[in-house]
Formats: sequence, C-alpha cells, structure tokens
Amino acid sequence: MTDHGPNTRLTHAGRADAWTRGPDMAAGIVNPPVWHASTILFNDLAALDAARKNPDAGLYYGRRGTPTQWALEAALTELEPEAAGTKLYPSGEAAVVAALLTAVKAGDHVLIVDSAYEPTRSFANRFLKPFGVTTTFYPPTADVGPLLQDNTAAILIESPGSLSFEVQDVPAIVAAAQARNVATVMDNTWATPLLFSPIAHGVDFSVQALTKYTGGHSDLMMGSVTTTAKWWGRLKTRSYVLGYCVGPDDAYLALRGLRTLGLRLDRQGASGLTVARWLQGHPEVARVLHPALPDDPGHALFVRDFAGPSGLFAFVLRRGERRHTAALIDHLAHFGIGFSWGGYESLILPVELAGIRTATEASKGGQIVRLSIGLEDPVDLIADLAAGLDRYAAQFGEEQP
Ligand SMILES: *Cc1c(COP(=O)(O)O)cnc(C)c1O
Repeated sequence: MTDHGPNTRLTHAGRADAWTRGPDMAAGIVNPPVWHASTILFNDLAALDAARKNPDAGLYYGRRGTPTQWALEAALTELEPEAAGTKLYPSGEAAVVAALLTAVKAGDHVLIVDSAYEPTRSFANRFLKPFGVTTTFYPPTADVGPLLQDNTAAILIESPGSLSFEVQDVPAIVAAAQARNVATVMDNTWATPLLFSPIAHGVDFSVQALTKYTGGHSDLMMGSVTTTAKWWGRLKTRSYVLGYCVGPDDAYLALRGLRTLGLRLDRQGASGLTVARWLQGHPEVARVLHPALPDDPGHALFVRDFAGPSGLFAFVLRRGERRHTAALIDHLAHFGIGFSWGGYESLILPVELAGIRTATEASKGGQIVRLSIGLEDPVDLIADLAAGLDRYAAQFGEEQP
C-alpha cells in the first residue's frame, strides 16, 4: 500500500492484516469491533501451552491487546515505509519514555534537543539521571557529531521543536548517529507520518502523541512508537515488562481519527498558514514562528524534508508583558484557552520558555503566543484575532508599537 497516495493508505491501513492474529469475526463490518478483554479462555491445557510458546500468535492476555488495538498498530506501521511494528502507550509522553528506555541502559549518555517537549526534559533530569544515564541538551541546529561521547546511546530529535518551532536537519543527525552506532528517537507529533516519515529518514524510533492530530477530537490520550526490524523485539519486550497497554475504546477512537487525518491536516495546515501570513502583517506582531513561512530560519530544511505544514505555530508580540496578553487571549470567540493541540477546534496558549531552555536563548524578544488552528473558517479566526489584537493595543493608549 506504500505506493499509493497518503489518503488511500489512510483508508486501507490496518484493515487487511489486523485480523490475522484473531478469530475472523469481521463478517463484512468495515471497522474492528471494540474487544474488551483481560482474561482469554483456552479450551484445554494443550491450547494454553501452545499460546504460552507463542503469545503473539493470537489472543493471549488483555495486556497484549485485542484485534482493536492490533488494527491501530498495524495501521500506524503501514504509514511508514520500512517499519517493522508499532506499540501503543497510554499517553504521548509514555511513548517517548518507552522509546528512550528501549535504547539506553545505566552508564549511557543521551543527547536531547533543547526544544524538546518539556516533560521529555523532565524525564531526563528526574528519571534518567538517578538511573545512571546522563544527558546533554543540544541546540536544535547543532552539528551533533562533536557532541557524541563514547557512551552516547541515543539522540532525541523533535522537529519542529515544541513551542519555538525550530527545524532540525534530521538526515544529518541520522548520518552522524549511524556512523557511531547511536540510536535515534524522533518525537514526530507535529508532522505525523503524513508530513514527515522518521523511519523513511533512517530514524530508529518514530514517536507520536496520538492525543494530538491522530485522535484529532480532543477526547483521548495515547502515544505510539513505530520502529524498524532491528529494534522491534526489544521495544516489544521492554514495553511489555513496563506494563504499558491501552484500552480498546481509546484505540477505536484513535483509529477512527486516523481515517480523516489527511483531510484535517491539509485543511488545518492551510488555514494555519493563512492566519500566520495575516499575523506577519500586523503592527503588534514582531515575528511569526512558523517554518512554512519563507523568512523563517528553518524554511529551507522544512521545504526539503516536509510534505507540508500542520496547524500549530506561535507568534511574538512587539510590546507588553505577560499580564497584557490577557486582553488578547481572554474573550476570543473561536480560540479555547487550554493545553494540548491538534483537535478540530482552535486553541490559544501563552508560552513561557524561561526555565525550559538551557542550550539556546529562551527569549524571542517579546511575549510568545501559540495557536493551534482548527477546522473553523480562517476568515472567522482572523476576525477574532484582529479584535483581540485591537484590545491588546488599546492597553497602550495612543503610543505606537
Ligand atoms: C503533547 C505532546 C507530547 C505528549 O503527549 P501526551 O499524550 O499529552 O502525553 C509529546 N510530544 C509532543 C511534541 C507533544 O506536543
């Protein structure tokens, strides 16, 4: 199916093979049923012993999933050429953690990009460190070669970076890592495999917070790690002994979300760019942090590597303190105030980089505001933001920005 277009692949993914491990109950129904299970009953001792010898061959125990979870895993694997398999996790952050714990052991060193999702930084500082794994945070545009140590076991990539949207040179990082037999883990939540395939670029672990665009409707928490044949066995074992599993209702919702991922990303990416361009021309806006804009520092790499933009970006205000941003953020009609992103509804969030950057400059020269653009009509979103920026400007009286 990898020779078909992305939306054709999304329509077929996880449907052909997903049933092969379980009894074929599909009976013509398009989607898998939601199979709730902890105990699986075996007919006799011989059947139990046979299952024990090969627990991946069929239904075994609820923690190993049912055809509902298998269908989602198979679909995500099919989206990345050369991938060997996918495991599901109860959150995106749990997926990042599982990938790193598969690649490292005590005594190792890891490189984590300075613009990584903040809980990933916390995992390094609060968990890896006491377990004997040291971390160097590196600037997103750094040449990682000279930063590799004899005990470096993994490099965490996240591109574009969380909150500040720096684009990384993934092929260069992968080449440096492969030359030294270092594993690469990429948090690909912003792009999803539709806009960038980490596995096709040689990355070992492709991680997604399915909570965001794949779920797409702000109603589920889940993460996934897709990996290559080299790592698949170890990822499965480590994830299993860590006790990770997801419920079938959430897997069903994620699979349902996945079917329309292409359409939603197309629309949300295009609307996001329309809003970003409008913001660029606004007198209160100093900068828009969006790699699909031609004057963004990451634009050349973005155009080279990505199939298009998703709908998450930020902008920097020209003047004012954080307390002033309430005039913009409060009272918007179409932007909810809240964490997460990637749903069908637009969100706005003030961004604070101080304390979560140690290898790069935290200041972008003004207050940063992040937007997750939803499926509303961009003309309405722009009118809403225009009114908000008028309220913002009014706080400064006649003074010009
Ligand atoms: C949200 C997010 C995560 C974590 O996902 P959860 O499901 O909220 O745990 C990981 N990485 C990135 C880039 C994210 O934006």
